[in-house]
Amino acid sequence: MKVGFIGLGIMGKPMSKNVIKAGYELTVFDFNQSSIEELGELGANQAASGKEVAEQSDVVITMLPNSPHVKSAIFAENGLAEGLTEGKTVIDMSSISPVASQEFAKELEQSGVEFLDAPVSGGEPGAIEGTIAVMVGGKKEEFDKYYDLLMTMAGSVTYVGEVGAGNITKLANQMIVAVNIAAVSEAFTLSKKAGVDPNLVFEAIKGGLAGSNVMNAKAPMMLSRNFEPGFRIELHIKDLQNALDTSHSINTSLPLTSQVMEMMQALKIDGHEKDDHASLAKYYEKINNL
Ligand code: NAD
Repeated sequence: MKVGFIGLGIMGKPMSKNVIKAGYELTVFDFNQSSIEELGELGANQAASGKEVAEQSDVVITMLPNSPHVKSAIFAENGLAEGLTEGKTVIDMSSISPVASQEFAKELEQSGVEFLDAPVSGGEPGAIEGTIAVMVGGKKEEFDKYYDLLMTMAGSVTYVGEVGAGNITKLANQMIVAVNIAAVSEAFTLSKKAGVDPNLVFEAIKGGLAGSNVMNAKAPMMLSRNFEPGFRIELHIKDLQNALDTSHSINTSLPLTSQVMEMMQALKIDGHEKDDHASLAKYYEKINNL
């Protein structure tokens, strides 16, 4: 099985390295030539376009910021669609709108090309260690066919339903993470204002019911004031916007999600869009004069 990979950013670069390590023949493309060369040094074929990646691969993985980037990588001039033929598959591992995933699947189906939406959770450390959680939507037989390939990058790969279901699951994940980070920031704000050291609060409560993976990953960043991404505010805004657009389209209300979305929007206006989402702590510091 020949594999293609498009999007060698914070996540895609380590993920594609894990595919090579597992012994697959890999062809890569990104707008960033130095990332292509870095993968080339590890044995990947270096392509000059998405079209070239598709021509040389049976299955192409995309790991790009949002729906418009995926659309352009597939359907723009010299994009994947020009090199994809019947029986090939696109596995989009980006976090994008579920509706966009369904549209891309439908359009590709007309040329006999299959599509899975397979977004991931676990961040850069998980991508490096090969422990990310992958949530997959699409035809079950396609999922079965590519399970082993996906497992080269992951700690778990779970089938969640028809195409689009992967991104619905990812939105659920992102809502929980966002609200959880806001809750930790809010709790530390109270403790600081009341004169109780938040480092000790974290130490005291992390093993109890309030403890979480989110708290363990993000509280130390807040406490040491390290807001290097990680996961940028601008990407989390994109996910929450996709969650709200989706919820409104199916007559559903998500009050907590929309509130945290507004906090992140305020941080963006304040120039923090490239900071890690742990910088929600800064929003609380600002409104509380801390
Ligand atoms: P990133 O911005 O670091 O990387 C995106 C890469 O795509 C860049 O190298 C860019 O040059 C390339 N690119 C963009 N458009 C392209 C095109 N048309 N053709 C070729 N290359 C193109 O983003 P990231 O942090 O790696 O995130 C990728 C996706 O994974 C996003 O949807 C994000 O929400 C999701 N995600 C990120 C994290 C994280 O912690 N960073 C965790 C889980 C999921």
